[in-house]
Amino acid sequence: MATLQAADYSARCIPRLFHEIVEGSVDAVVVANEGHTIGYVNAAAETLFGYRREELVGQPLDMLIPRADRRHRRHLIERLSASPTSRFLYSDHHHTFYALRASGEAFPVEISILKTKDELGVRFIAFVRDLTRQKELEASLERLASTDPLTGTRNRRAFLEEARKERLRWRRFGEPLSLAMIDLDCFKSINDRFGHVYGDQALKHFVTTVNSTIREVDIFGRWGGEEFALLLPATCLRNAAVVAERIRARVQAATPPREPRCASGCAQITASIGVSTFVSDQDTIESIINRADRMLYMAKSSGRNCVCLDTRGD
Ligand code: GH3
Ligand code: MG
Ligand code: MG
Repeated sequence: MATLQAADYSARCIPRLFHEIVEGSVDAVVVANEGHTIGYVNAAAETLFGYRREELVGQPLDMLIPRADRRHRRHLIERLSASPTSRFLYSDHHHTFYALRASGEAFPVEISILKTKDELGVRFIAFVRDLTRQKELEASLERLASTDPLTGTRNRRAFLEEARKERLRWRRFGEPLSLAMIDLDCFKSINDRFGHVYGDQALKHFVTTVNSTIREVDIFGRWGGEEFALLLPATCLRNAAVVAERIRARVQAATPPREPRCASGCAQITASIGVSTFVSDQDTIESIINRADRMLYMAKSSGRNCVCLDTRGD
């Protein structure tokens, strides 16, 4: 009797329960056949893609896929189709897929595809989850982790990461690659005379000056405190010296913002710069930083506000 009741329950209630689960799902569900024609979408799919159900059913799946991704998606479904298993759960966490809204906007999604077979043939059931917010969050965390909060430029971690990639490119393509280490002069006394807030403003001002002097391909970052690093791709030592000298002159000429209440003279920001270049395969980011650092030390001991070159790469 109990068995009969359970069977009765299954026959009468389970289909409705399944319908409610699928229709109430927060993930979009899209069912297509082997001909890539949409056979069913749930309510969440209507909201996600911005179409009414009747606008989607019977239409090609390509409607929901950006043009650039269509071939790849077709290939994927064909692979699943040819797979010997009758049910197949597919999910790719390494590659970001994009879907297409009715408005024409492409947006990142996570897709799991279940392959199943009924009396009418093979069906692909795609569970689609919108990743827009997650991707935005990841991008803002990435920005936070790689940006110096005071000046908005790269922090040391981001600088080193990009510099290492640039070194690999240098080894592969052999174009010159140079580095400048820049340290603001007597910055402690700037802080002491004009206050820390003014010092902070001067650091920001310095970064703006450098950014307006360098090229887009150059990699600039805050090494720490009042010290900065600048990597110059496709630039030999001689040209790096020209860039460094231009920065030095502009920093000296740029009038730093001044606190009106500071009567104790004019704040003059200057920078000392050490420049080195990659010469041998043995050179690493660390080794050319060390060489540029030695030149920076020499610039300081030569009276500051000047550029010194490691002529090994000349
Ligand atoms: P030198 O010409 O030899 O480089 O002298 P210096 O005074 O610049 O060098 P020192 O290393 O003695 O002092 C660095 C100063 O930079 C001290 C420190 O308070 C200041 N500084 C570092 N980071 C910041 C910052 O974020 N804001 C401000 N306002 N000052 C900073
Ligand atoms: Mg200094
Ligand atoms: Mg310093």
